[in-house]
Amino acid sequence: MTKVIIFSAPSGSGKSTLINYLLQQGVPVHFSISCTSRPPRGQEQHGVEYFFITPDEFRQHIEAGDFLEYEEVYANRYYGTLRQQVDAQLDAGENIICDVDVKGGINIKNNYGDRALSIFIKPPSIEALRKRLEGRGTETAEAIQMRLNKAEYEMSFAPQFDVTIVNDDLEQSKAKILHIVKEFLHA
Ligand code: ADP
Ligand code: 5GP
Repeated sequence: MTKVIIFSAPSGSGKSTLINYLLQQGVPVHFSISCTSRPPRGQEQHGVEYFFITPDEFRQHIEAGDFLEYEEVYANRYYGTLRQQVDAQLDAGENIICDVDVKGGINIKNNYGDRALSIFIKPPSIEALRKRLEGRGTETAEAIQMRLNKAEYEMSFAPQFDVTIVNDDLEQSKAKILHIVKEFLHA
């Protein structure tokens, strides 16, 4: 049976870095592409990192009941996972990896139960998170502050996940994640 790996974390904790590492290591998982109403950032491309759609298109999908889950993660910034997209990938024999906010992660875990592994990536501290977001350089100061404001609240959801990894030393986190995900896929 194909499986679902869920990664959730406050923005800037290192989720994308760890997911990309798993993909580079040849772990048999495929990235689940979400929809978002935010504009592309940096080199992001439609159909690769996200399906970039307008707020109107997003609302149409909500009304049609197309989303497995969706959240307004930041004000007027919607993110959602299309049910059909996920099920088509699972039915085609692909394990999938979802990068979603904390509430989305809990909803997907509830939907798939033992078929899913939910992983929470925690930054060592809020200060470290600020430095990482500033270092990444992809957001305005205002957007960084918006993400930091939400981080503490998001961290309170960690106990609801199957596994929590504190992403302090990156090499150690990579090794832990690789081990945990491989073990889950082989179980
Ligand atoms: P997310 O996907 O959770 O928003 P990213 O993977 O984009 O976060 O990481 C945010 C920034 O922090 C990136 O610039 C990344 O290179 C850096 N980073 C990730 N993990 C670590 C770590 N353990 N120590 C220091 N910097 C890190
Ligand atoms: P970013 O704008 O940095 O790409 O993503 C912001 C937040 O939205 C991250 O926490 C990311 O995991 C989350 N996110 C991305 N796609 C989805 C989705 O389909 N559903 C939910 N609930 N959150 C998502």
